[in-house]
Amino acid sequence: MKVKRIEAHHITVPLIAPYKLSKKYGTVTHAQAVITRVHTDDGLVGIGEANPMPPFTEETWGSVFAAVEHHLGPLLLGTDPRNITACNGLFDSALAGNLLAKGCLDVALWDLLGKSLNAPVHRLLGGALRSEIPLLWPLGSGTPQEDVDRIRAKMDEGYRTFMIKMGALPIDTEIARCEAIVEAFGETIRYNVDANQGWDLAQTLAFMDGTRGLPMDFVEQPLPRTADWGLPEVRARATHPISADEGVQTMADATTLAAAHAVDVFSLKISKNGGITRTWQVAQVAAAFGIRCLMNSMIECGVSQAAALHVGAALPNLWDSGQCYMSTKRLKDDVTDFGSLIHDAVATVPDGPGLGITLDEDRLQKYTDASLVLE
Ligand SMILES: [Mg+2]
Repeated sequence: MKVKRIEAHHITVPLIAPYKLSKKYGTVTHAQAVITRVHTDDGLVGIGEANPMPPFTEETWGSVFAAVEHHLGPLLLGTDPRNITACNGLFDSALAGNLLAKGCLDVALWDLLGKSLNAPVHRLLGGALRSEIPLLWPLGSGTPQEDVDRIRAKMDEGYRTFMIKMGALPIDTEIARCEAIVEAFGETIRYNVDANQGWDLAQTLAFMDGTRGLPMDFVEQPLPRTADWGLPEVRARATHPISADEGVQTMADATTLAAAHAVDVFSLKISKNGGITRTWQVAQVAAAFGIRCLMNSMIECGVSQAAALHVGAALPNLWDSGQCYMSTKRLKDDVTDFGSLIHDAVATVPDGPGLGITLDEDRLQKYTDASLVLE
């Protein structure tokens, strides 16, 4: 089996409602993705996805295109796509970094491998430990009353885990948001907070002191990732577990954070971490250090979501709350049928070959702004 054709499509899909993140990221109105298709000489097609979101990601959709067109794709053409380790080695021989570009091909290789063996990706990762996974719902930055109202509305849909986006408001207001949530819902829900690199060390310590003893799952990425050296001090002073997201991209990042006793949780994202292979590797580093993993998401379409669902299904050290399989629920449309796996805020792990989802040709064309083909 040989790769004979590679396609990449840049798509832009509007969100149902604007999503207000930290000061650093502003308000997001559209999902950006690069959807890939890797064709083999015997007629199989694997699909992948990258989710560039500068300045969260260093890569842009244009840089993903350039990496695939000029560096990664030419090496993949003519190779056996089932040799995933060898293919990732070729990618690394051509380019350092560029995890999103490598990831959108890696995901397509896992999809192809599953299709060639008539097996779901989770089985190739060692088998599913769970067949259903509850969802988390993320709340953009808002007032304490807006948070309570939004949580109540989402509880009616079945959600019991929430991620509260912070980093855009004064620390006192952010503390008041947590107090309002605990007062309104007690322990009937689980929630974590995500500052998206929005605070400095003094603000982070003030937040930890102000929320001392409040029930809370964890505090994610309070500091800029370049200042994660401050996390051990934060963790020593906090009563809440600490999570890294932007700060944990590579296995080296994971090892550095773990060895520094900086975090309790890694937020994993298929695209950010460079595909299924590298996300799984980071999760194994986490396991070695007793760190658990949240299957998080970028604002992404169904291919990345399906890949994350297979990894989450097979991961022994999955954090025990809802996971981020809600991304397509925030989009006005998706280019896959991933949404059919979600019912009552629970994702059912697919058992079909590969990723177990299909790409819709009409919707792919509708949202495509630019394409490239390598043969
Ligand atoms: Mg995050």
